[in-house]
Amino acid sequence: MLKQLAKWLDQSSNIVFFGGAGVSTESGIPDFRSASGLYHMGSQIPPEVILSRSFFDSNTKQFYDFYFEHMIYPEAQPNLTHQLLAKLEDMGKLKAVITQNIDGLHQMAGSSEVLELHGSTAHYSCLACGRAYDIAAVEELCAAGQGVPHCDCGAKIKPDVVLYGESLDQNTLVKAVNYISEADVLIVAGTSLVVYPAAGLVDYYRGDKLVLINATKTSYDRRVNLLFNSKLKQVVEPLLAHFNE
Ligand code: NAD
Repeated sequence: MLKQLAKWLDQSSNIVFFGGAGVSTESGIPDFRSASGLYHMGSQIPPEVILSRSFFDSNTKQFYDFYFEHMIYPEAQPNLTHQLLAKLEDMGKLKAVITQNIDGLHQMAGSSEVLELHGSTAHYSCLACGRAYDIAAVEELCAAGQGVPHCDCGAKIKPDVVLYGESLDQNTLVKAVNYISEADVLIVAGTSLVVYPAAGLVDYYRGDKLVLINATKTSYDRRVNLLFNSKLKQVVEPLLAHFNE
């Protein structure tokens, strides 16, 4: 199986990668749905409630307390998967990384065409005037504002992250659909494929080299051309060695 994947990657110059939180667990960032994920940590209010727009609006301090404790990992570094994807782009083989992640690790690894479907924890904006802030400024404003960061104009500042109940950026979505529908090889990895509309993007793929790498089963397992029910590291380490030869 690995030989087949290496062959497809060797032959292609139109690879697209679509990933989720499982791509960053090997960097020490927990995902949502694995046994060690955020959804199993026993919080009183379910994470999907806290991470919703209505909760942000009505309980902003509680939202930010949770957000800074569970969504921000300043020490995290790119892992082998992030490195392999940056290398494939550098070799002119990979066209785009489409990610549901908000951690910025693909860019840190050197990937340049990264579509962040769910936004990024690196960027923040004022809900009224749109002024942009970085994370350091927001942390300071949080401390100064009893846990809620306010803009100079007086309105609240929100992470540029797509919360439950908010829509995805249409331009990003259209670009992702275009990349996927034109891809020769599509690698889907580290995603439970249950969060829509992101998960539905796989349906736009029209080729016959659909690869899925995921530690646990998904509803797409029977529809793919090559399935690795394993941790990413097991697949990616030999591939990285192959491309570094
Ligand atoms: P998910 O938690 O629903 O699914 C992650 C999947 O990855 C699981 O099926 C799990 O079995 C698999 N997985 C975990 N570690 C793996 C590994 N080392 N190798 C292979 N597979 C592995 O995550 P999702 O599908 O991305 O959707 C949930 C939402 O979580 C997304 O919207 C995303 O924005 C958000 N999220 C992002 C981060 C991040 O930015 N790093 C972290 C947590 C959650």
